[in-house]
Amino acid sequence: MTTKAQSYLTHFRNIGIAAHIDAGKTTTTERILYYTGRTHNIGEVHDGAATMDWMEQERERGITITAAATTAKWKRSGTDQEYVVNIIDTPGHVDFTIEVERSMRVLDGAVAVFDSSQGVEPQSETVWRQADRYGVPRIAFSNKMDKTGASFELVLGDIRERLGAIPAPVQYPMGQESEFKGIIDIVRQRAHTYTNDLGTDITESDIPAEYADKVTEMRAALIEAAAEVDEDLMMKYLEGEEPTVEELVAAIRKGTIEKKIFPVLCGSALKNKGVQLLLDAVIDYLPSPLEVPAIRGTLEDSEETREFPADPEGKLAGLAFKIMADPYVGRLTFVRIYSGTLQSGSYVYNASKDKRERVGRLLKMHANSREEVTELKAGELGAVIGLKDAGTGNTLIGDGDDHVLLESIDVPEPVIKL
Ligand code: GDP
Repeated sequence: MTTKAQSYLTHFRNIGIAAHIDAGKTTTTERILYYTGRTHNIGEVHDGAATMDWMEQERERGITITAAATTAKWKRSGTDQEYVVNIIDTPGHVDFTIEVERSMRVLDGAVAVFDSSQGVEPQSETVWRQADRYGVPRIAFSNKMDKTGASFELVLGDIRERLGAIPAPVQYPMGQESEFKGIIDIVRQRAHTYTNDLGTDITESDIPAEYADKVTEMRAALIEAAAEVDEDLMMKYLEGEEPTVEELVAAIRKGTIEKKIFPVLCGSALKNKGVQLLLDAVIDYLPSPLEVPAIRGTLEDSEETREFPADPEGKLAGLAFKIMADPYVGRLTFVRIYSGTLQSGSYVYNASKDKRERVGRLLKMHANSREEVTELKAGELGAVIGLKDAGTGNTLIGDGDDHVLLESIDVPEPVIKL
């Protein structure tokens, strides 16, 4: 049961974007940040560092365009409902495998980006296995549909053969390579055609006649896959009844969260094609913090475990997952709060280091600004200024609470070497 205090969490998605190097993770992330824009631009950081162009700065440093966790907002197309999408940086290179593992711990769902001219490449395979190990629900984005050699079928086939997963295409490309014009939403049976070079103007229409048979066939397969995970849908299916769009979306969502269905989308991030629909799919199919299993911790010196469901009114449980040195404010400790509420100026207990630490200021990082906040609630991610000792992977709990260590994020088995 979701309490009133937890209800904001239904509109939260904490996601990572994972890819083989060059598949288009940076471009996809950049476009996502472009489309989500900045709803917040109010925060000021003192110490002479007011709102700054974060993206520009990161680019100058040549590292990455995002912070370890970037908070964006997205209004799902066709609705008035606004969602918070926290994008957690997942390093793409195999050298950062342990960092990838760490990031897997703090996200609830992932978008796997593939280069549709290359199919599933080795690093994508590694990241996919890591996501499997951490039980992370996924959707896949077959990017670069405009590129010579692009083939949606290649990606679908590779997902089946190289990843051993059953792809559930929820979209179909209209044209491929230089003829790539748009995307058909198989669930809603609508065509989205891009009508300008920038890919920002979209016309929605009925499905062009030439794609009708293909879409009918793909939709039937999708309904069949969804019926496998949803009893109500199965009943309808057996009686030959057509599910409503809402029922189909709900069943695919259930299958995705249970990791039985992997929705596959397509597009071209570089041409801005498909990115808005990708964001809609993140909302439709990836879980909120309430839909993933509660994080567990072990009580110090015992075998006793505790669960920390996503609840801002619960006991504080957070994980530090990345430390960054900031030229203006010093040490930034990126945290995910699983349960409870972290207050600026409060004391927390670092259970990994057996140390009481003072929380200074709290920041939420947006694409090109940072917002100072007074608290970070369950399900939220942000940066803490002022923690002196916290390292990556450390557990933060309430001062005076029972000493609990959150589930270890050490690599549980040897890293696959490629
Ligand atoms: P990353 O290494 O996964 O972060 O990949 P990038 O986003 O940096 O993209 C790698 C290269 O592929 C860059 O030169 C991009 O411009 C290009 N690229 C990314 N998305 C697309 C796309 O949709 N179509 C085409 N043709 N090129 C793309």
